[in-house]
Amino acid sequence: MRVGADELRRGLQCDEFEPFFQPIVTLCTGELAGFEILARWRHPEHGILLPDHFIALAEQDGTIGSLTGILLARAFAIAGSLPPHLRLSVNISPHQLHDFLLPPQIESLAGSFRFPLSRLVIEITESAFFDNLEHARAVTLELKKLGCRIALDDFGTGYSSLLHLQALPFDELKIDRSFVHSMTKHRESRKIVSAVIGLGQSLGLATIAEGVSTPEEAGLLLGLGCEAGQGWLFGKPVPADQLPALVQTPPQP
Ligand code: C2E
Ligand code: CA
Ligand code: CA
Ligand code: CA
Repeated sequence: MRVGADELRRGLQCDEFEPFFQPIVTLCTGELAGFEILARWRHPEHGILLPDHFIALAEQDGTIGSLTGILLARAFAIAGSLPPHLRLSVNISPHQLHDFLLPPQIESLAGSFRFPLSRLVIEITESAFFDNLEHARAVTLELKKLGCRIALDDFGTGYSSLLHLQALPFDELKIDRSFVHSMTKHRESRKIVSAVIGLGQSLGLATIAEGVSTPEEAGLLLGLGCEAGQGWLFGKPVPADQLPALVQTPPQP
């Protein structure tokens, strides 16, 4: 189904968007490290819609900022009942990284929920740096000043450039699931994953593997020195009401 701009605005007005949460697990201990916030639209007719139905539209339409605000407010509100060491990771669209209002918006939202920004990870893809590296760098630095961690998402896809790793203050590198998926079958993928983890280590960045779906993949990643994993092996994204149960019985690989 295709969603139009009017329908998107209606959904926003009717408060139909909510965060789902996917566990991120420390590979060597199997302990929960935090959650990635993933947008979902609880549509009255079409059920739960995934981001590919509405993120691009929200970006074009200029409503992506409000959507991020809605997701963060819900997530910060719930975070108060989670163990304080757990981090939350949020996806920020490329052009939001050129908006100098983003850092003060996040700061005031976190302030009103008393959420310490040292627990927030901002996930960005490299395409965010194409338009204007200086702007993106300035906004990223502001977010870091507030205490946020910065993750480079989908690393290895698109036009990955080592220039970005050098120019920007990243804390985490997320290895795209396409590499993780093929690493148990193809030696080349395994070597690429190994090299990326090594690169992360030498730059002092934590590496997080996406799309971990088998114990074999998790074992290989751990052996290669990858710190954390995320994927169906550890749990699919769940709505907020399922978080307390997840936190009590963390996912066992
Ligand atoms: P992403 O940031 O790379 O998020 C990871 C995606 O991989 C999620 O898809 C997640 O459900 C899926 N995934 C996780 N583990 C596995 C696995 O083991 N196997 C497979 N096949 N898939 C797995 P989702 O939720 O459909 O989100 C898709 C993309 O939409 C995200 O990719 C992100 O780029 C974007 N997105 C989601 N929420 C937001 C948001 O609030 N703002 C923005 N700007 N983008 C968002
Ligand atoms: Ca992400
Ligand atoms: Ca990703
Ligand atoms: Ca992605």
